[in-house]
Amino acid sequence: MLDDILHKATRIFTPVVDATFLQEEYFAIDMSSANLDLTMDMLAKPEVHHQYLQDLLQRNSAKVAYGGYLERRSLYDRSNYFQAKDDKGKRNIHLGVDLWCPANTKVLSPLNGKVHSFQINKNFGDYGPTLILQHDISGYTFHTLYGHLSEASLENKVVGQNVHPGEVIAALGASEVNGEYAPHLHFQIIVDLEGNHGDYPGVGSQNTLEHYRVNCPNPNLILKID
Ligand SMILES: [Zn+2]
Repeated sequence: MLDDILHKATRIFTPVVDATFLQEEYFAIDMSSANLDLTMDMLAKPEVHHQYLQDLLQRNSAKVAYGGYLERRSLYDRSNYFQAKDDKGKRNIHLGVDLWCPANTKVLSPLNGKVHSFQINKNFGDYGPTLILQHDISGYTFHTLYGHLSEASLENKVVGQNVHPGEVIAALGASEVNGEYAPHLHFQIIVDLEGNHGDYPGVGSQNTLEHYRVNCPNPNLILKID
């Protein structure tokens, strides 16, 4: 039912980064462990990963590299923040979609909503500056999370402030503030925030996958990139 509401919340392709990027300038990428280009050495150096992505985009006449919903990644092996004693508890399944484009790219709200909460999440490999919006549509309440923002994005934000579809709500942060990643937006739908404010897991484990799959529907239901 909620999937249906989310699907109907937008009618066509609806961007959450710079509205001048055309739908045909989005390029799907594989960030899973199966992509052998992504060596641990590259992922340890955000500027090298960023250059890899920019080269890939240029070769494909594209502006935004995107993907990652329920993707299983080795990227998180570099940070203790995601580790566990056993493989099924290890957090390596990505729960949102990532949109890789340069720092300072504008971030837009796809829907009517209001500011639920925001904070800077400072663990290594975490979101850095993070914003969560609340949306109330057709009697349903759900949330959207925007991670890896610039610090300036959170200045002058007020809990409860209204946002409109297409409104610029933030900008992408550089590696120095975004948890030490190549610049990208982490966009995630979250039905129940489970008491969280300004934060919510963006990566789950095999043990928790069924729970998160239901609580965090596919972001592409709203974005309609493909
Ligand atoms: Zn992400």
